[in-house]
Amino acid sequence: MNIFSCRHASEAASASKQQELTRRARWQLGIHRLICRGCRVYARQVEALGHAMSRIASTTREGLPTPLAAAARERIRRVLEREMSR
Ligand SMILES: [Zn+2]
Repeated sequence: MNIFSCRHASEAASASKQQELTRRARWQLGIHRLICRGCRVYARQVEALGHAMSRIASTTREGLPTPLAAAARERIRRVLEREMSR
């Protein structure tokens, strides 16, 4: 039985965001995640990050940034200013 390595599993998971995986690749990824806790956790984190990014994107499109987004922008601006003044 051919089971993905963790590296192949993460590559397949990334590729699945861009395109439909083959049935074989989906099966191999599923089997790998059944036996690999690390890749299950990684998949959940990537999924959560994707949801967060789409929430931020939809907020920005509506032109109504949340207070958190405004605070994050301010933090990024301060870091950039600090880095550029070195
Ligand atoms: Zn793994």
